[in-house]
Amino acid sequence: MIKVTLKRKITPRVANGHPWIFANEVEKTAEELKGGEVVSVFTHDDKFIGHGYANPRSQILVRLLTRDRKTEINEDFFYQKLQECWTYRQKLGYTENCRLVFGEADGLPQLIIDKFNDYFVIQTLALGMDVWKPAIVKALERIFSPRGIYERNDVPVRELEGLPQQKGFLSAPFDTRILINENGLKFHVDIENGQKTGYFLDQQDNRRCIQHIVKNAEVLGAFTYTGTFEIHAAHYGAKSVLGLDISANAVEQANSNAKLNGLDHVVRFDTANAFDVLKIWSREGKQFDVVMLDPPAFTKSRETIQKAITGYKEINLRGMKLVRPGGFLVTSSCTSLVKPDLFQNIIQMAAKDARRQIRQVSFQTQSGDHPVIWGLENTEYLKFLIIQVL
Ligand code: SAH
Repeated sequence: MIKVTLKRKITPRVANGHPWIFANEVEKTAEELKGGEVVSVFTHDDKFIGHGYANPRSQILVRLLTRDRKTEINEDFFYQKLQECWTYRQKLGYTENCRLVFGEADGLPQLIIDKFNDYFVIQTLALGMDVWKPAIVKALERIFSPRGIYERNDVPVRELEGLPQQKGFLSAPFDTRILINENGLKFHVDIENGQKTGYFLDQQDNRRCIQHIVKNAEVLGAFTYTGTFEIHAAHYGAKSVLGLDISANAVEQANSNAKLNGLDHVVRFDTANAFDVLKIWSREGKQFDVVMLDPPAFTKSRETIQKAITGYKEINLRGMKLVRPGGFLVTSSCTSLVKPDLFQNIIQMAAKDARRQIRQVSFQTQSGDHPVIWGLENTEYLKFLIIQVL
């Protein structure tokens, strides 16, 4: 295996657990590195750190797969790792749907696998992981005997790795509009054309948190996608629920999910730009008992972080104004660059501008099938906040 030696200065960071090695952190490589190959990384004073995969095209030259010198990176490695991932999820109580592999947080950098009962959706976002796709598919077949496996590699970040964007079957073709159960409700998931892998599993535990506050409430949900939070609200006893999303396709699926659960007499979805509608309604003095917001990520780069802050402040200010005194705002942020304390500050600024007092009911992150590794920034990305608006 080709040897990669790190510079003295950065070694502690990597030695202390970080799996990424940037090109400018490498002192020397024994040979020129080829994209996708497995290499061995050593400290400046020749102590073994780990085996990982390399890509000279990427700013992140090596991503570590193991810190055990004897572990070989081969088909069996992926089988063992996937077994470990499944054991962990089962321990947490996930039986049907879960993020089976959450990349770096599972020691499998840039690999995402979502499990929707007997169907699996895969993303391999780096070249060094992409080359192991056949081994990963084989491991899934061995462990789960899936009804279908689908690749959702239509993700721009792959281009930084010199990989094409693509999607398609990794098993025999199947009907890609599947049905899942969550918290006793049914949802259609379009794994071929839906957003990301088709469904936002990261909110699956948080959806249960609205159970008590929505009882007999008039509820407004914005950025609803296929209507998961809103249908939960109806199921938990809301008086009426209105959901808004800018995507007509998402709204159609949300309405069909409402019908599927026999809740279409309580919950309705409309196509609308939430920024515009919430602005008009707050001017008109419209009121709800509970307002729920779950917008998409507003930025992925530090340069435009201010834009994200402005966006969050604006939408939460408008949302808060629509809450009756004593009602609740349920608000999320999936922008990983907006850290939990920054998000709280933004909500506080919004409350000040709305001239409303608020108190925190609960503040959480993504569900446990997306574990957080401290010090590995991007693994903690979701903020889920419930506040009472006085
Ligand atoms: N709450 C959903 C996930 C929401 S994803 C769930 O748990 O499944 C974010 C959604 O916001 C997407 O469906 C996207 O279409 C929608 N969206 C983006 N910009 C919007 C806007 N300006 N107004 C309304 N919806 C918007």
